Order: sequence, then C-alpha cells, then structure tokens
Amino acid sequence: MTQSNPAFPTLSEKQIAAIAQFATRRHFRDGDSLFQAGTSRGAFFVILSGAVEIVDNSGGQPRSVVTHLPGQFTGDIDILSRRRTVVSGIARADTDALEVAPADIRRIISDDPGMGEIILQAFIARREQLLESGFQGIRVIGSGSSRDAYRIREFLTRNHVPATWIDVDQDPHAGEMLEHFGFGDDALPVVACEGRPLMHNPSISELAEAVGLRGTIGTEIYDLVIIGAGPAGLAAAVYGSSEGLSTLLLDSEAPGGQASASTSIENYLGFPMGISGADLTNRATLQSQKFGTRFSIPSPVTALEDDGSHIVVRFSDGEGASTRCVLIATGADYRKLDVPDRERFEGLGVYYSATAMELAACGGADVVIVGAGNSAGQAAMFLARHTNNVLLLVRGDNLRKNMSSYLADRVEAAQNIELLYHSEIRKMEGATRLERVEIENTKTGEKRTVTTPAVFTFIGAVPRTDWLPPQIETDPKGFICTGRTLADSTRWTKKRAPFLLETSHPGVFAAGDVRLGSAKRVASAVGEGSMAVMFVHEYLAELNAEMPAS
Ligand SMILES: Cc1cc2nc3c(=O)[nH]c(=O)nc-3n(C[C@H](O)[C@H](O)[C@H](O)COP(=O)(O)OP(=O)(O)OC[C@H]3O[C@@H](n4cnc5c(N)ncnc54)[C@H](O)[C@@H]3O)c2cc1C
Repeated sequence: MTQSNPAFPTLSEKQIAAIAQFATRRHFRDGDSLFQAGTSRGAFFVILSGAVEIVDNSGGQPRSVVTHLPGQFTGDIDILSRRRTVVSGIARADTDALEVAPADIRRIISDDPGMGEIILQAFIARREQLLESGFQGIRVIGSGSSRDAYRIREFLTRNHVPATWIDVDQDPHAGEMLEHFGFGDDALPVVACEGRPLMHNPSISELAEAVGLRGTIGTEIYDLVIIGAGPAGLAAAVYGSSEGLSTLLLDSEAPGGQASASTSIENYLGFPMGISGADLTNRATLQSQKFGTRFSIPSPVTALEDDGSHIVVRFSDGEGASTRCVLIATGADYRKLDVPDRERFEGLGVYYSATAMELAACGGADVVIVGAGNSAGQAAMFLARHTNNVLLLVRGDNLRKNMSSYLADRVEAAQNIELLYHSEIRKMEGATRLERVEIENTKTGEKRTVTTPAVFTFIGAVPRTDWLPPQIETDPKGFICTGRTLADSTRWTKKRAPFLLETSHPGVFAAGDVRLGSAKRVASAVGEGSMAVMFVHEYLAELNAEMPAS
C-alpha cells in the first residue's frame, strides 16, 4: 500500500495479484457505468488503468464523491450487508478493472487478515465520510403526526439505511417537492429511493425489498438458522459463521433487539465508559457479515416444522428455510400500558425506546417515563439531558427494587427528573398526536393533568414465543425450557439428556431473554448465544454419526 488515506488506499502490485485470483478482468469505455445506485449489489472493482468516478445522485443533482485511480478499489459496507449500492460508479477514461464477486470479497476479508483490515477499514471510513458529506439517501416525505411516517422512519433508522426526513408540517418547500414528484398531500407518506419508482406509504416488506434488506434465502439446507438478531442471535451468528457453519440470521424488524434501545450499556465487559446498544449491536452485525452470515430482514417467523429429515422455519408469507439446527433467540417484547387510547398514540407520542429519533418529537418539552427498572433509569438520564423536565412514574414506593443502585443514585440526583411514586397514567388525550396525560396517585387518589408530547414506557417484557409449536416446551409464562428444566418433560424423546441450551425438540436450541432462567442481560445473552454454537456442533456430529453409511 503506498497511500495513507484509510478510506481510499492504493493497493500494492502484490495485493492486486492476490485479489486477481478471484477476479474477472473487465474493460470500460469513458462514460460507461460500472454500477448504479439502487439497482446494483456488490460493486467491488480494483482499477488497473483509467479512472472511476463515484457519483451521488441522492440530492437530485449528481455530485462527485471521489475518483478512484489505478490501484484503488470501489465499494463500501453494503458489499458485506448484501444491500443495494447507494452511489453509482462511472468510468472517466478508458478503464481496465478487476471485478470481484461479493462472496469472494467476504472470503478475502475473512481469510486474509492483512487485506481484510485494509478493505474493511476503507468500507467503514467511506460510509462515515459519505454521511458527513451531505448524502441524503432515501427521502421520506410525510407529516410528523402520521403513524405510517413514523413506522417507515423507525424501520429505516433501526436498519441503518441512510435517509432524510422531510416533514411537510415544518418544511416550507415540501409542498413544491411533492408537486415535483406528482403527488398530493393525500398520497403521504412518500418514499423516494434512487433508481426505483416512488413509493406511496410502502409496507415494511416493500421498503425492505427496495433497499435490498431481505436477502435471498434459497433452497440450501443451512447448518444453523437463528431466529432473532438481538445480542444472543448476533453472538451465535458470529461464532457459527466464523466456525464454518452455514448460518442464516432472521429478524422480524432489525438487528439489535432490545439492546438497540439502550442509550448506554455500562455493565458490558470491556467498555468502562459504557457503549450504546446500537453501537454494540452494529459492530456485531458487521462482524457476523464479515464471516459470511446471511441476513434476512424482515422475516417474522411464524412456525417451525419438522419434515422428518430437516427442520423448516416458516415466515408469515409462507416462505421457509430448511436447516439442521435452529436457535430461538426471539427475546422479549415490551409490555404495553393498559390505558384507554394508548394504541391510537403509538408512534405518535407513546414510545418504547428513547433515542434521537423520538427526541425530535419532544422539542424540549416535559416528558413522562413509566417504569422503575434499568431501562427506565437509562431513558430518564438520557431524556433529562435533552428535554425540559422528566416525570418518572413508579408504581410502588421503591426505585431500588429493580434498578441498579448506581443508576438510581444518578436519577435521584438529577435536577430535572421528578420522581412520582404510587403513580399511574389513567388517560391519554390529543387530537392527532399525544398532547396530555392524566396521572393518578394510587395512594391518595389525587389526579394531575400533564401537558406532554411523549410517554416512554419501560414496564417489563413478555417472551416472544406465541408462534411456537407445542413440541417446544415453555413455562406457563411462555419462557422456553432448556436442558435440565426438561428433566420431567414428556416431549423429550431421545435417550440422551438434552444439552444445556437444547429445547424439548432435538436440534432446536434457545438462548437469551426468551429462555427460562436467563439473566435478562446483554452479556448473558451474548454468552448463551456463543455457547449454543458449541451444542450445535455436538448435535451435527451426532446427526453425522446416525447417518447410514453409503
Ligand atoms: C431500554 C433497555 C435498556 C437496557 N439496558 C441494559 C443494560 O444496560 N445492560 C444489560 O445488560 N441489559 C440491558 N437491557 C436488557 C438487554 O437489552 C436484553 O437482556 C438483551 O437485549 C436480550 O437479548 P436477546 O438477544 O435475548 O433478545 P432481544 O434483544 O429481545 O432480541 C430479540 C430479537 O428477536 C426478534 N424477533 C422476535 N420475534 C421474532 C420472530 N418471530 N421472528 C423473527 N425475529 C423475531 C426481535 O425483533 C429482536 O430483534 C436493556 C433493555 C432495554 C429494553
């Protein structure tokens, strides 16, 4: 390597020769397109002669991002995530280049640590620079008081799809823009995605298809299908794919799970200053993709079937994936407040996470948090920094019962957090979005109305197992039984005892918050996900041993 800019390194002749083993030589004439935003996937070219300009069309006008010269290579993080490219590449002279297929790039990255580091570092740095350079990406045009607009923005944000939000209630030019696209107010929300027709109020599946999130599952029999991409599922994906198992990771919403709602995880080993859940799970996602884990999002799993030779994991659209082993890591879902009209305000003032996106709706006003566990405490500290006043509603009279004492100390010391014990919300009101709530002190019966644009709810979680077949044993609350908790199970039919994380169906494992007896912590979910892979290896060895000799 002869150039020091990590985003745009120049490879040495030796490095180019190493890549050439996996590449096809291509020739382009001046002005030819090598790849196009929104349509192409996996555009990795090493320039041998000539030049390739990277162009961003997301702002409406073409904008030059960089020109790659001989020895440099194209591509960014989307090659690993198998999404569509967000920029276009055009030859700016007669150009010779080596084209490498995405699967081979992933192989080079994971098999050759030196080259892997150069390429990965460049991919990550390029995406950061692109975002900082005013790249607009997908444009979502809608009203701040539209639940559909919130649904679309939430999905894009949680999946790290670069997008610009244009609020028609705030942006004086939004009307002109809509007219330009040929839409009226009644078509909102509208999504403009380069290289594809405009979408009017798209479903999550349509959106995922447009950005290339939902990968092809194919007909192959996987070694391991992981259901749920929270900390447990991501850890299993890293270990499974790095240890040579063909691994498919499915999630109904986005990678990260509950952890992605945590603004600062301070009890995770190795991060003395804390790390945000989104950052931690983002890194894990990249790490698993580097080792070749296949992702498919959104893929809500609705059934597990055993066809006698394999396990079939079924999605809500009837499609399925066949596998030898399954890991259920579906975690837990937020418990909802039992207050009239709560559903009407979901996404319009009732939230289950406190991140920068929800903050935009708070505009420095007073906000309400319901709950007294660590997640409520973290949210209170985060919101206290960005809003006027935080009212923390606790059902009982003790903050330390479920909250770590270091966090309870901080909450109590914060100037703008008001603790309301014995308090519950009785009413939610507002025209199109939440405007005020009525709070009752359950001890005195006293009622108080608070003007607020946002209620954040952290009142515990229930396991996401309502879709499981009866062969998978759960406790009465729905948590999955594994290992020794199956000692008296009539569903377990094998002679050997189930492995520690094995469910009542051989070859189906469970890890993380969904498992009976789990610690409900990021670190333990990660530990269980990693450990589950060890049992997957043992189970696969058992299957091999049982196969009749041919
Ligand atoms: C706000 C907040 C703050 C927290 N802070 C901390 C902290 O500081 N420290 C700590 O140790 N823990 C913390 N926790 C707890 C921690 O996040 C969880 O213990 C951990 O995320 C559990 O990981 P998991 O992988 O088991 O499940 P989850 O994180 O719940 O992930 C499950 C995944 O499965 C997916 N899924 C569910 N059903 C299906 C289906 N049918 N098909 C496909 N996919 C499905 C979901 O979309 C989700 O992505 C916090 C939790 C919250 C909510």
